Amino acid sequence: MLKLKDVHTYYGNIHALKGIDLEVTEGEVISLIGANGAGKSTTLMTTCGIVPAKRGSIVFKGQDITHMPADNIVKLGICQVPEGRRIFPYLTVDENLDMGAFLRNDKDKIKEDFEYVYSLFPILADRKNQAGGTLSGGEQQMLAISRALMSRPKVLLLDEPSLGLAPIIVKQIFTIIKKINEEQKTTIFIVEQNANLALKAADRGYVMENGVITMTDTGKNLLSNEDIKKAYLGM
Ligand code: ATP
Repeated sequence: MLKLKDVHTYYGNIHALKGIDLEVTEGEVISLIGANGAGKSTTLMTTCGIVPAKRGSIVFKGQDITHMPADNIVKLGICQVPEGRRIFPYLTVDENLDMGAFLRNDKDKIKEDFEYVYSLFPILADRKNQAGGTLSGGEQQMLAISRALMSRPKVLLLDEPSLGLAPIIVKQIFTIIKKINEEQKTTIFIVEQNANLALKAADRGYVMENGVITMTDTGKNLLSNEDIKKAYLGM
């Protein structure tokens, strides 16, 4: 469904991605793990056109999107939930969700999707008229995921969904991510420093170091790999 081939990305003369090969199959949950600065976020941002690839190719459902503007990539169905959430702080929960449906005009389906995301996160329904910026960190993450769902993505890219959240909230969010994958058949690509949770949720995982992919396997096999245990799982 989504294929990155020999992707190189630079920030000025910093060579952040040094030839990434990565594949996401329809319906899968994929996790990309790695230390700080490995290039995980850059991989996501290059995929959705925010940071341009200098070399290599990115193909989505047979279409080359390597140099496509980010808004066109969203229209094709690739939607990112950025690190740090970035919801609209002065808009209410309802209005934030409306912004997620910005490119759509199928009113009835939008209404259904409001009901769906509120059923996933009932706390957001209780807060629907509250300004986004006044929500807790966990609620903001829920809102960011919900807002992305309102665009009916085919692939949901999640950048560090656990960042700065209490373990119990993180667990809840990962349970919902799996549920979205199962119920909506949404393909999910997660970038995470919390390797344990990310690999548990994943069908397959990729490990990244210094701008290159160093290992790939099923989530289950990576979790029991001795090198991964030592380097990323603190065991
Ligand atoms: P983290 O888990 O800390 O978010 P990461 O694996 O997502 O790290 P990236 O944020 O992709 O890593 O960063 C990869 C490399 O690119 C790092 O060396 C980083 O310093 C550099 N980098 C990232 N963004 C920029 C930028 N806007 N300008 C210059 N260098 C950048």
